[in-house]
Amino acid sequence: MSLKLLTEVLSNLFKKASTVEYPKQPSLALQEHRGRHYPDLSKCIGCSLCALECPTNAITMNPLPTKVKHNPRGIYPVVEYGKCIFCYRCVDVCPVKAYITTNYFENASDTLITSNELSLETLPRTESLKT
Ligand code: SF4
Ligand code: SF4
Repeated sequence: MSLKLLTEVLSNLFKKASTVEYPKQPSLALQEHRGRHYPDLSKCIGCSLCALECPTNAITMNPLPTKVKHNPRGIYPVVEYGKCIFCYRCVDVCPVKAYITTNYFENASDTLITSNELSLETLPRTESLKT
């Protein structure tokens, strides 16, 4: 080992780590990072366009748990994040701009993670079956 290299190695021993100790320390995502997104059911009209346009078939249309005036078909999209490539095509094509976007990126899981719970929280309170 050359003296230059040895000096470099020894000096690095006393420097602050360059890497982030994730997940012990939270890693910050950029504000504009494309993270989890979910349809706001107080806006969604159930047109299915987002599901039709999704390149990875990550979106399925599910029946609403209750009737909503602005959604006569009574269906809403559910995004499966494990299949999603976060292209945001669905966000762009939605005619009523129903998708809420976030920069949340921690999607690694051994269970199915979907947008369902987040979306159900956006159902108009007076029309929701949830109390
Ligand atoms: S971001 Fe892209 S891949 Fe993900 S659900 Fe939307 S259209 Fe599909
Ligand atoms: S494109 Fe928009 S309005 Fe149509 S189903 Fe998807 S989220 Fe709802």
